[in-house]
Amino acid sequence: MTKTHLMTNRRQVMVGGLSAALIAGCSPRSSWSSSEADVVVIGGGMAGVAAALSLEEQGVKVQIVEADSQLGGRCYTLRTQDGAFDCGATTIGPNYGSVLYHANRADVPFIAPNSKDKFSYHINGQFVHPDAWQSSPANLLVGGERAILPEQLEFPTVMQHNKIEDIHKWNADELLAFDVPLGQYLRKNGVSEEALRLIDLTSNTMGLDQTSALFQMREFAGIAPPKAGDKVREVYDAAGGPPGFYNVKGGMLTLIERIAANLKSEPILNDAVSGIDVEKDAATVTLASGKTIRAKGVICTVPYSAMSSIAITPSPSGPKKAALQNSLYTLTTHVFFIPNEPYWEKDGHPAGLVSDDIVERVMANHDEDGKVAWLDVWINGTAAAQLDKMGEKEIVKFVQKRLGELRPSMQGALSPVGAYSWGRNPYVRGNKHVMRPGEVQAIAPWMATPIMDRLRFAGEHTRSTQAGLEAAAASGMREAAAYMDLFA
Ligand SMILES: Cc1cc2nc3c(=O)[nH]c(=O)nc-3n(C[C@H](O)[C@H](O)[C@H](O)COP(=O)(O)OP(=O)(O)OC[C@H]3O[C@@H](n4cnc5c(N)ncnc54)[C@H](O)[C@@H]3O)c2cc1C
Repeated sequence: MTKTHLMTNRRQVMVGGLSAALIAGCSPRSSWSSSEADVVVIGGGMAGVAAALSLEEQGVKVQIVEADSQLGGRCYTLRTQDGAFDCGATTIGPNYGSVLYHANRADVPFIAPNSKDKFSYHINGQFVHPDAWQSSPANLLVGGERAILPEQLEFPTVMQHNKIEDIHKWNADELLAFDVPLGQYLRKNGVSEEALRLIDLTSNTMGLDQTSALFQMREFAGIAPPKAGDKVREVYDAAGGPPGFYNVKGGMLTLIERIAANLKSEPILNDAVSGIDVEKDAATVTLASGKTIRAKGVICTVPYSAMSSIAITPSPSGPKKAALQNSLYTLTTHVFFIPNEPYWEKDGHPAGLVSDDIVERVMANHDEDGKVAWLDVWINGTAAAQLDKMGEKEIVKFVQKRLGELRPSMQGALSPVGAYSWGRNPYVRGNKHVMRPGEVQAIAPWMATPIMDRLRFAGEHTRSTQAGLEAAAASGMREAAAYMDLFA
C-alpha cells in the first residue's frame, strides 16, 4: 500500500534504503509458519524505530513490521522536483532529548526552520491587513483579545486559565474538575464567543467542546527552552533563529531514514499486522500476507485510530478496550502550491492567510533568501473532515478555486503540487490523539497499559507529558526498557 497522497504532477517519492539481514530469532519450532524474534515492533514511525533501536542496543532481536511502503508514519515528506514538502511533523521542539538521543547517532542534518510571511486575514467577510486587524470592523473580539492576532489566540488564552502547576502532576485528583469541555471552561472564564470561534479555526482539535480542558492545558504546559550545551541549542544558535526549534534538511522523512539506517534488522514493509495472539510468556503476530511471527513480546505503536483492523486475543476489556476502539484523533489535510507570480504584491497584503472559510490557513514559506517560495494550506479538524469526503485531486481543485474567490490576487497565481490527508491514511487516520471531556479520568490511565505483559503499547497517543515526536520516541524507549526488565 502506498501513501495516500496525491501528486498532481512531478511525483517522485524516494524510499530510504535499509540494509542488514533479516533477524534470525530464537530456535525454530515446527508449529510456527515463518519467523521468530525476541520482540516484534508493530509500526515503523518514530516510536517504533526508537523502540527497535533501543532494544537492539541491548542485544535483543527485533522485527519491525510496517503496513506502509516506507518507515516514518507521521514523519512523511512529499519529495518532488520542486522540493520536499513535509506532510506531517516538521519541527523538533525544545527538550526533545529522546529524539536527539537517536538523531545524534545518525548524523541528521538539522537546519533552522524556514521563516514564514505574515498572515493577512479573511474574517467575517472582510480582507484585512494584519496592521489593521486591531481596529478593523471584522475584528469582533472583546477587550484585550482584540490586540491578539487570530492565529495566536489559543496559546495565551489556554495558558491564562491553565491550572497545571507541575506538569508531572497534570492529572492529579484535584485537577480532574477541569476534565470538562474546553469551550465551556473558557467561556465560563470570560473568553468571548468570537475568540472561541477563531481559536477553533487553528486549534489542533476536533472542536473545543469535543476536547478536555485539562488535556489541552497539559498540551500547552511544560514548553520550556532547550538547555545550553544541548545539541539543539548549538545548532539553532548557529543558525541565528529563536532558540528551541529546528527542522531537518530534506524533510522529516530524512530524520527517520537516517535514524533507521542504524537498525541491525531489516523491517518488513507493505504488510499490515492483522492479529496479535497473546499468551502468558509469548505472543504471535499475524500479517496480512498470512505470515506469522512468534516472539517473546510485542510493542504495538499503531495509532489507536487504526487499531480496529487488528484482532487482539484475548480480547481487551474495560477502559483498555474503550481506549483501543474509541480514541478521538484530530484531522489535518494539507494542500501545497508554488506561487507562479507574487500575488501579494498585487493586493499589498502579506502572502499568508488566515480565514474563517473552510480553507482555514495558508502558510507562506520563505526560501533561504526570505522570498515566498511555497504555500502550505493547512486545514484542521471539522473543516478537514468535510474536505476529506472528496478525493485528493478534487481537494486540490476545490482549495485552489476557493482561495481565488477569497483573495482574487491568487487567481491564476498558484501551481498545485499536491495534497495529503492524514484522515485518509488508513494506517494513521488522523493527526494526533486528543482526549474528550471526561477521558483524562476515564481513559488516560489505560492508554499505555500492557496486555498480559507481552503486548505493550507505545506511540504518541501513550504519552504523558511530552509532545509530538518526542512523545513518540520517549514512549518507544520506555517500552523497550520495560522488556529489558522483563527479560533480565
Ligand atoms: C500534520 C502534522 C504535523 C505535525 N507536526 C509536528 C511537529 O512539527 N513536531 C512534532 O514533534 N510532532 C509533530 N507531529 C506529530 C508527530 O508527527 C507524531 O507525534 C509522531 O510522528 C508519531 O509517531 P508514532 O510512531 O507514535 O506514530 P506514527 O508515526 O503514526 O507511526 C505508526 C506507524 O504504524 C503503522 N501501522 C499502522 N497500522 C499498522 C498495522 N496494522 N501493521 C503495521 N503497521 C501499522 C503506520 O503506517 C505508521 O507508520 C505532527 C503530526 C502531523 C500529522
